[in-house]
Amino acid sequence: VVRLCAEASIPVTPRGGGTGLAGGACPAIAPRSIVISLERMRRILALDPIGATITVEAGCVLEEARRAAAEAGLMLCLDHGGAGSSQIGGNLATNAGGNNVLRYGMAREQVLGIEAVLSDGSVLSQLTPLRKNNAGYDLKQLLIGGEGTLALITAATLRLRPAPQIRATACLGLASLDAVLGFFGRARAALGEAISAFELMPRAGLDLHFEHAGSVREPFEPAASWAVLIEADSASRYFDLPRALEELASEALADGLVVAGTIAANDRERQALWRLREGIAEAMIARPSLKGDTAVPIPAIGAFIERATLVAETVLPGAIPVPFGHVGDGNIHFNILPPAGMPAQQFAGCAPGLAAAIEDVALALGGTVSAEHGIGLIRREALTRMRSTTELDLMRRVKRAFDPAHLFNPGKVLVD
Ligand SMILES: Cc1cc2nc3c(=O)[nH]c(=O)nc-3n(C[C@H](O)[C@H](O)[C@H](O)COP(=O)(O)OP(=O)(O)OC[C@H]3O[C@@H](n4cnc5c(N)ncnc54)[C@H](O)[C@@H]3O)c2cc1C
Repeated sequence: VVRLCAEASIPVTPRGGGTGLAGGACPAIAPRSIVISLERMRRILALDPIGATITVEAGCVLEEARRAAAEAGLMLCLDHGGAGSSQIGGNLATNAGGNNVLRYGMAREQVLGIEAVLSDGSVLSQLTPLRKNNAGYDLKQLLIGGEGTLALITAATLRLRPAPQIRATACLGLASLDAVLGFFGRARAALGEAISAFELMPRAGLDLHFEHAGSVREPFEPAASWAVLIEADSASRYFDLPRALEELASEALADGLVVAGTIAANDRERQALWRLREGIAEAMIARPSLKGDTAVPIPAIGAFIERATLVAETVLPGAIPVPFGHVGDGNIHFNILPPAGMPAQQFAGCAPGLAAAIEDVALALGGTVSAEHGIGLIRREALTRMRSTTELDLMRRVKRAFDPAHLFNPGKVLVD
C-alpha cells in the first residue's frame, strides 16, 4: 500500500486505536490522503518465556499483549488508561508513558526490535530480541515517538519482566500539596525500587469522576484536597510489601503528612482504587476541558501546580484547575474545566491562550509541554517554543532523510 501511495504521491496517516490525545491519527490533508488502519494486523507472533520477549504485530491491542504476557507468568511493563483500545504501533509511535514509568520507563524502554515500512515501500526489518546491540546507529529509536511521520510500524519485539507476585496498593489523603512530595520521598526511602506507581488526584478531579460515574464513593473519610494512589510490587514473594506499605502509611499519619486513607485488602479493592485514578482522565475526556501534558523536574511539582493555578485564575477567572497524574516522573496533566456556565464554544476560544500560559509556567521551571502524548496536530506551535533552532533544524533533516517526499503523516509534529 505504501509503495502504491509513494508512486501516486498520496500522503498516508497511520492509525492505531485512535486513543492518542494530540490529534496525530487524524489526517491533516484532505481530501487526497489515506488513513492506514493497523487494526487487522493484530497477531501475537511469538512469546519467548526464557528470553522474556514478546513479538507482536503493530495492531495488537496493548491489553491483549499484556494478557498474553501475564498468561506466561510475565509482564509487559507498559500500562495506561487507553490500554483497552490503543495498539502497540500507536504506543510506540507516541512513546507512550502511563502509570508505571517511574519503575519501568516509557514505551521506548520496552522495545528491543522493530519492523517498519519506509516511505518508498521498503521494509526496515529489525525484529531482534537482542538486549545489547551497539552495531551502528539505533534507527528504531527514531521511529519510537515519531508519531507516524517517519515510517509505518508493522511489528515489534518487546521485553517482558517477571510478573509481580506481591502487590500493595493504597489511596491516601495528604495534608497539603507540600506533603505530596514529602510523602513521595519517604515512600521511596521505605519501598525503594518496588514503587511502581505514585499518582496524584486532586479533590476537583475526584468530584468530577464521581459526578461522571453517577455515584459518590469516597475512598476514605475525611476527604482531603489532595490524594495519592501508591502501588508497590515485587516479582519475589519474599518481600512483605503490604506490611511495609502499612508501616509507611501509619508513620506518615502519625507525623501529620497523611490525614486519612485506605489500603486495598484484595484485588477487587485494588481495582476500585485504580478506577478512581482512571476515572479522572475519562471524565475529563467526556466533557469540554483543556488537557495538558506538562512535566517538570520532580522537586518543582509543587511550585508548578501553585503557579499554574494562579496563572489559570488570572487568564480565565473562574476556571477550575484539575492537575493530576504521575508524580513519580514529574508528569502533571494540568487540565482545566471551564468556569461554571461558560458555553463550550466560548471556552474553546480561550483554550489556546490558557494552554500557552500554563505551558510557559512549566517551561520556566525547566519542564516540557509534551511529556507523553506527543506533539501531533495540537502542540506544533508549542514545540517551536521549547526546542532550539538547532534542534528543530535537525528534526527537519531527520524527517527528510526518512521521508523525502513528505508522504507520512504530513502536517504533524513539525510546522512545514
Ligand atoms: C482514557 C485515556 C487515558 C490515557 N492515558 C495515557 C497515559 O497515561 N499515558 C500515555 O502516554 N498515553 C495515554 N493515553 C493516550 C493514548 O492511549 C496513547 O497515546 C496511545 O499510545 C496511542 O495509541 P493508539 O493505538 O490509540 O494510536 P493512535 O491514536 O491511533 O495514533 C497516535 C499516533 O501514532 C501514530 N501511529 C499509530 N499507529 C502507528 C503505526 N503502526 N506506525 C506508525 N505510526 C502509528 C498515528 O499516526 C498518530 O500520530 C490515554 C488515552 C486515553 C483515551
